[in-house]
Amino acid sequence: MNLCDVRFVKKLMAKYGTGTKKGFGQNFLINPSVPEGIAEESYSYHKSKCDNKKCGVLEIGPGIGSLTNELCGCYDTVLAIEIDKTLIPILDETLSEHNNVTVINDDFLKLDLNELISKYFDGSSISVCANLPYYITTPIIMKLLESARDENGKSKLCSITVMVQKEVASRLCANETDKDYGAITASINYYGRVTHLFDVGPENFLPAPKVTSSVIRIELYDEPIYKTKSEKMLFKVIEGAFAQRRKTMVNSLSSVITNIPKSRIGEIIEKLGFDINIRGERLSIKDFCALADEFYGEIN
Ligand code: SAM
Repeated sequence: MNLCDVRFVKKLMAKYGTGTKKGFGQNFLINPSVPEGIAEESYSYHKSKCDNKKCGVLEIGPGIGSLTNELCGCYDTVLAIEIDKTLIPILDETLSEHNNVTVINDDFLKLDLNELISKYFDGSSISVCANLPYYITTPIIMKLLESARDENGKSKLCSITVMVQKEVASRLCANETDKDYGAITASINYYGRVTHLFDVGPENFLPAPKVTSSVIRIELYDEPIYKTKSEKMLFKVIEGAFAQRRKTMVNSLSSVITNIPKSRIGEIIEKLGFDINIRGERLSIKDFCALADEFYGEIN
């Protein structure tokens, strides 16, 4: 069974009376070296960080199972969440030789991630690996980062290796001063370190998307490196700093932090040693944590 052979894939889908659905962001991999490469990147990093433990992986959107199949060959336990119910009987067939995989038919964004983790991965170290549906890349990544944490804020995930649009990858991997640096970059930098792994051209998918894709890995910190007194304030400050990109940060922040006068926001920015006209894209996550703590102290 070659899950990347176009003729085979089309036949399989016809057999089950289904086809690829644009609305679910379905672009299936048809070059076997790509799912192999993604699984290899995910597992080799996971193993280097979490040895001597059972290894589990969560996949969002298995499609017809080409990446899932590779993950089953590496990890001890695989949990795959697929929204499209017409793909479930196909996955039953394509994954039938593996006894370490569970497929759930549901919308990942509606599921309780911590419940899934305790039910399916008890005692395992866990990574996430997926070719993400591009229409919900950011909500999926933010859900993984924000909610998979224990009561002390420690991450329950080791790493997230995912394929996203190249343009999104550039934003996620940007450094301060890059034009692509934005709220999502700073937010992700709070939770972990992002690395660009490789690009994948449109010809590797069925149907071919219009854009190039990139595989990235987020290596999650056990706990945030830069601490903050209030995560709520931190994310409000990050959002505020990029709310109006053409404006200076004082002006942009004052549209979101409404309970501190604009003049005081300016004083705090200068007190921390920044130029009054600084823009959000110049600030690292360390700077944002310092700023958020000052604002938090001002209000509380
Ligand atoms: N992993 C397969 C591959 O690489 O060939 C398919 C990847 S395709 C880009 C994205 C997959 O995510 C599709 O199978 C789609 O049905 C599924 N999907 C879309 N939205 C989803 C959601 N909210 N929850 C779970 N799966 C979703």
